[in-house]
Amino acid sequence: MNTPIERLHTALESLGLKENLLEQASKKEPSYADFLDELLSCEVDARRTRYLRAKLQLAHLPFLKTFEQFDFSFQPSLDERQIRELRSLRFIHEASNVIFLGPPGVGKTHLSVALAEAAIRAGLGAYFITAHDLATDLGRAYREGRLDRRMRIYLAPKVLVIDEVGYLPLDDLGTTIFFQLVSARYERSSIILTSNKSYGDWGSIFGDPIIATAILDRLLHHSTTINIRGESYRLKDRRKAGLVPPREQERSAAATSLASASVAPKTRQKAALGSTASEAKEAHP
Ligand code: ADP
Ligand code: MG
Repeated sequence: MNTPIERLHTALESLGLKENLLEQASKKEPSYADFLDELLSCEVDARRTRYLRAKLQLAHLPFLKTFEQFDFSFQPSLDERQIRELRSLRFIHEASNVIFLGPPGVGKTHLSVALAEAAIRAGLGAYFITAHDLATDLGRAYREGRLDRRMRIYLAPKVLVIDEVGYLPLDDLGTTIFFQLVSARYERSSIILTSNKSYGDWGSIFGDPIIATAILDRLLHHSTTINIRGESYRLKDRRKAGLVPPREQERSAAATSLASASVAPKTRQKAALGSTASEAKEAHP
């Protein structure tokens, strides 16, 4: 036959509660109220953790990154005050959008995920998908005659992250569905979007400048655009490993080549484009 203490240990363990609560209690001899208070707040914490974990799983985030893990000193073009304002999550309550623009590796997805994580912590639903997966999923739903039902998945959350708009062009159906989605969420719920293409180039994503304008019109009416102009964070690690020359050397080399030969800038441009393309690939292993 188990003793009451053994049974308590088993019960605490199966509830996922702190076992050392018992030890503490036998040492400190707290009042019943204090002991119960400690026990219940433990259970409340545990439930909150389980709830958050479930919500984070539902959001389909590609990785879990927070603002604390973001090195702002590496990205001086970012206005920290603007990011602080976004972290207040007011934009979600105002059904306003956030668009991160910039080349690969500058932290667009990281910051989008951090905002989604903050929203979930605040009890607001979030969902993450890439533009390509979104178009594929809804395109299939359309062909199977269940577009409206499937669309609800992307309309329900308070925040929808649409990542990597512009890496791959959308076909006519993808573009039409994208427009429908943006229109349906307009002034109702927020979109966080990332793109490597500046707004002027969006015509090429959607294959039609008129529909691109219509999408941008709704997307930007209530929105914040964050343009990240810095360099890839992934490159930083490669620089450290000595695979890429340090920034100073690169700059002085650039200055020399600009001064000496007129063909040099083109070569550099090509090299830069090459590294961008390989980085884009690296982002989707
Ligand atoms: P993007 O979406 O702009 O291509 P990511 O957000 O995927 O770039 O960033 C690439 C990787 O570098 C990720 O692992 C991300 O967490 C990290 N990263 C990017 N910028 C920073 C930064 N300023 N501080 C810390 N980590 C960063
Ligand atoms: Mg990204």
